Amino acid sequence: MISAIILAGGKGKRMGAPVSKQFIEIKGKPIIYYTIKKFSENKKIDNIVVVLSKDEVVYFKENILEKYNLKVDNIVIGGTERQDSVYNGLKSLEDTNTDIVLIHDGARPFISDRIIDDGIKFAQVYGACAPGVMPKDTIKIKNESNFSVSTPDRGSLVAIQTPQVFKFNEILECHEKIKINNIVVTDDTMVAEKCGYSVYLYDGEYTNIKVTTPEDLILGEKLI
Ligand code: C5P
Repeated sequence: MISAIILAGGKGKRMGAPVSKQFIEIKGKPIIYYTIKKFSENKKIDNIVVVLSKDEVVYFKENILEKYNLKVDNIVIGGTERQDSVYNGLKSLEDTNTDIVLIHDGARPFISDRIIDDGIKFAQVYGACAPGVMPKDTIKIKNESNFSVSTPDRGSLVAIQTPQVFKFNEILECHEKIKINNIVVTDDTMVAEKCGYSVYLYDGEYTNIKVTTPEDLILGEKLI
C-alpha cells in the first residue's frame, strides 16, 4: 500500500496573510485544493492523510472537501513543529498496510505525476529518496557578522523539495528516535540521515515551489 501524508498544519507566518497559507486562493481555489487533487488523481496513491491544525479541521471539511467534492482517507491533528505533524501523520498509518509513504508539503500545489511516480520507484529501490534541483544562485556560508566564509561548489548542492518518499517502517522508526532524543530537523531527509540512512536525490522541478512568501503567489497564478 502506498500512502501520502499531506502536511497542512502550519500557519505560514512568512506569508503575512490572515488565513493559513494553504487556504490562500490561487485563481479562485485554495492552494491545498490543488495539492490534494493531484495526489487523489495519481493512480499509484492508495491512501491520503491530511495533517491539519486542530482549529482548522471544520473549516477544511466545509471549505475544501465538501465545497470541491474531494475525498481524503483520514484527517490527523498536527503538532507544534513540522516534524511533530509528520510524526502524527506517520503514527496514524501504523495499523494500515503502508509499505511506502510520501510526505508532502501541502503548500506545494504544482507537484507533477512524474515526481510522485519517480519518488515511489526510487523509494522502493533505495528506501529513502527526495526530489531536488540545483540552486540557481551561488550559495554562501556566512558567519555571525554577515561576512562570507566559504562558497560550496554549486555542482554538489541540491535544493530539496517534497514529496520525500520512504519505506514506511524505516521512516517511522527514525522519527521515533529523533523524538526520543529531541533532535530538531527541517525535513524528513534529515530524519533519515540522523538515523544513518542515505537518501537518493533525484530530479525535481523548478516549478515544484513551496508557496512561502507573497511573491510566490504571483508566480503561482502563472503556474496554475
Ligand atoms: O513552514 P514550512 O513552509 O516549512 O512548512 C512546510 C509544510 O509543513 C507546510 O505545508 C505546513 O503547513 C506544514 N506544517 C505542518 N505543521 C507544522 C508546521 C508546518 O503541517 N507545525
